[in-house]
Amino acid sequence: MKVPFVDLGAQRDSIQEEVHEAMAGVLQRTDFILGQSVKLFEEEFAAYCEVKHAIGVDSGTSALELALRACDIGPGDEVITVANTFIATTLAISCCGATPVLIDIDPQNYNMDINLLEAAITERTKAIMPVHLYGQPVDMDALLALANKHNLKVIEDAAQAHGARYKGRRAGSAGHAAAFSFYPAKNLGAYGDGGIVVTNDDTIAHNVEMLRNYGQTKKYHHQMKGFNRRLDTLQAAILRVKLKYLDQWNANRRQHATRYNELLTHNGIVTPQVMDYAEPVWHLYVVRVDNRENFQNYLAERGISTGIHYPIPIHLQPAYLDLGYPAGSFPITESYADTIVSLPMFPELTPQAIEYVVENIHQFLTNT
Ligand SMILES: *Cc1c(COP(=O)(O)O)cnc(C)c1O
Repeated sequence: MKVPFVDLGAQRDSIQEEVHEAMAGVLQRTDFILGQSVKLFEEEFAAYCEVKHAIGVDSGTSALELALRACDIGPGDEVITVANTFIATTLAISCCGATPVLIDIDPQNYNMDINLLEAAITERTKAIMPVHLYGQPVDMDALLALANKHNLKVIEDAAQAHGARYKGRRAGSAGHAAAFSFYPAKNLGAYGDGGIVVTNDDTIAHNVEMLRNYGQTKKYHHQMKGFNRRLDTLQAAILRVKLKYLDQWNANRRQHATRYNELLTHNGIVTPQVMDYAEPVWHLYVVRVDNRENFQNYLAERGISTGIHYPIPIHLQPAYLDLGYPAGSFPITESYADTIVSLPMFPELTPQAIEYVVENIHQFLTNT
C-alpha cells in the first residue's frame, strides 16, 4: 500500500468538471486581471470568514506583507511572532523593513506561548503576528488583551487555518487583519499561487487594495508607491469552486485526526491535543517521536510518506542569523524541531490508509 503525504490529484479529479467550466468562463469573458471571479470570490471568502472585507493577492506571503504595510509598519518597527513557523511569516516582516522579534512556543499546543509575549514588547513593537500553526488557532483573547493594553496591531497568519474556529469565531476574524495562503497544498488551495487579506477595518482594506494594484485609486491615479500583487482571475474562479467544498474537506480532516488520535495509543508517540477553545482544521497532523530519522525511513520503506514542519527554527536559519539569537534561545521550539513528524493528512485519506499507517508506526515503536 502507498500512502502519500498529500494527494492533490484525488481532489482535482473530484471537482474536475466544475473547475473546467469555471476556467472556461474566464476565457470567455477575457477579464483576466481583477475580473468578475476575483470580486465574487472576495465577497464569498469574506462571508465565509465572517469579516467585512477580503482582498485577493498573489500569495500568502504578499498577504502578510501588504497587511503589515497597510498598518504602516516599516523600518525601525518590531513585530513579534514565533520561532516555529514557516519562514514566510518572518520574510513578510523583513520585506517591510521591520524586524521580527521571536518568542518560543507553548509545549502543549505548538503555538506562540502567550505567557512570553509581554516580556518581548519594547518601545519599538508595533504589531503581533500570531500563527495558527497546523490549523489550530492561537489563544486570541489572551493575545488581544495584551495587544490592546500596549496599543499594538494584530495581524494573524492564518495560512494554515482556513475555516478553523476560536471560541466559535473564524480564524482570521479577531485581529486587525489576517492573511491566508492558497498555495496548492493548503486546506483551500489554488492551482498555482494565491493569497488573501481579510479585515473588518475599512482603512486597512482600502490600503491593501491600493498596494496590490500599483498604488492606484482609479486607473492612472496613484496615491502611493504600490506593487503588482493581484490575485489571478483564473485562480479566483478555481477557488470559488473549491470554497463550496471547504467545510466538507475540513470535516474529513477532523475525522482523520480523531481516528489517528484514537488509534495511536503507543506511549512512544505524542499525539496532538485540541485546546478547549479551538476547532482546528488539521492542515497538518503532527506527532513527536524519538529516533525520528529511523521512524521516517521505516515508514518510507513501507510506502508511507511523512514530513517535518519545520526542521530548522527561524532563528537558526542562515537567512536569520543576523537577528542574533544563539542556539538555545527557544528551548521548546528547538527540542521539538528534532522530534516532530507530520503524518499523511488530506481530505481524501481513507480509513484503511490510516489503519495501515498506525499499524506500521506501532510495529516500529514496539521493535525499537
Ligand atoms: C504557506 C504559508 C505562508 C505563505 O504562503 P505562500 O502562499 O506560500 O506565500 C505563510 N505562513 C504560513 C504559516 C504558511 O504555512
